[in-house]
Formats: sequence, structure tokens, C-alpha cells
Amino acid sequence: MEVGDFPPSKRRLTVLSGPSGVGKSTVVAELRRHHPEVWLSVSVTTRKPRPGETHGVEYFFVDDEEFQRLVDRGELLEWAEFAGNRYGTPRQPVLDRLARGVPTLLEIDLQGARQVRRSMPEALLVFLAPPSWEELEKRLRGRGTEPEDVIARRLEAGRIEMAAEPEFDTTLVNTDVHDVCHRLIALMTDPQKVTPVSNREV
Ligand code: 5GP
Repeated sequence: MEVGDFPPSKRRLTVLSGPSGVGKSTVVAELRRHHPEVWLSVSVTTRKPRPGETHGVEYFFVDDEEFQRLVDRGELLEWAEFAGNRYGTPRQPVLDRLARGVPTLLEIDLQGARQVRRSMPEALLVFLAPPSWEELEKRLRGRGTEPEDVIARRLEAGRIEMAAEPEFDTTLVNTDVHDVCHRLIALMTDPQKVTPVSNREV
């Protein structure tokens, strides 16, 4: 599907997905700093905070019981288990922003992206790809925040996520965070003006 197939009024929800370690959170941090016109959904997770992460900024950190309560009450737009932890998108804040026409971004994993595809088919799904598999492995290890068994699980998940690229509307290769942010903002706020849609070939 081409971006042009989406009517402009329905392009406000964008999903950014891609393998763990590809740099999604760096892109999101950059957007948070420089693009207040975009609203970034804050997910709920059962993962423990990494150094520097703040409750309510990168995530809402909750225990299993609280997460289950949110699932049972239908308060999550989508949720998934990823590498031993659960992650989900609070539904109401997203619906509120969309109702007001605010460009809204979800940074979620492949399983979540597929759920959004089913429940909100008008959403734009963007795949963030690493320049190469070797680069992804290097970035994941270089982060230095996870033990080897967690890295192995994330790499395993990464292979599956990489194979799903064709399910997405467009791909951005993360060679440069500023370039990716620029293209992403253009897709979210003014999709018609973006050529090429993907930077894979440039
Ligand atoms: P991390 O633990 O590295 O912050 O995130 C692990 C994975 O969970 C990443 O691929 C990230 O995109 C994904 N993730 C973060 N929030 C959500 C969410 O709300 N829903 C889903 N399905 N995945 C999420």
C-alpha cells in the first residue's frame, strides 16, 4: 500500500516499529526534544526502568498485577509480551489526541503494530530498519544495559521483526537520527510532500 492511499484526515495515527536496538527510542527522544507538535504515546510496561528512565516519560512502570488489571478492563489499545516483559498502549489518551487531530505516534513492537493494523486500518505503519544486521547486533550489545541472555532473546525477536518489513507502509533506514526524524515528521504532518517515501534507496 502506498502512503497516498490514506486520506489525509486519517493519517494522524502513526506506528513506529522495528527490531530492538535499531534506535527507535533515540528517534523518539529526538522528537520529544524538537517536535512538540507530535504527541508521543507513553506505554505501560512491566519492565524495570533502565538508568535515566523516568516514570511517566519513557514509560509508566507497573507491576504484573496492575498490567493485568489494565488488560482486563480493556484499557489498552494493544499489548504484547516482548523478551519476558509486557508492554501496552493506554487506549484513551490516544483516542483523545486523535479526536483533536493531533499527530500521534506509537513506538511499539511488531505484535502491537499488527494489532493496530487490525483495529485501526487507517494508521500509517512505519518500519525503522538498521543499515545492516551486523550494525543492529553491534548497537544492541553496545547499549550495555542488558545481560547476554536478554540480548540473545532480543536478537531472536529482531530476526522475526526484520522479516516483517513488507507488512509496513514504508521503511526508514536509521542511518542518521535527524534524517529519520525529518522524514517521520513529514510523513505524519504532511504525507503528500514526502518523496521518496522510504529512504532505503537514497
Ligand atoms: P524496550 O524494553 O527496549 O524499551 O522495548 C522493547 C520493545 O517493546 C521495543 O520493540 C518497543 O518498541 C516495544 N514496546 C514499547 N512500548 C510498547 C507498547 O506499548 N506496545 C507494544 N506492543 N510494544 C511496545
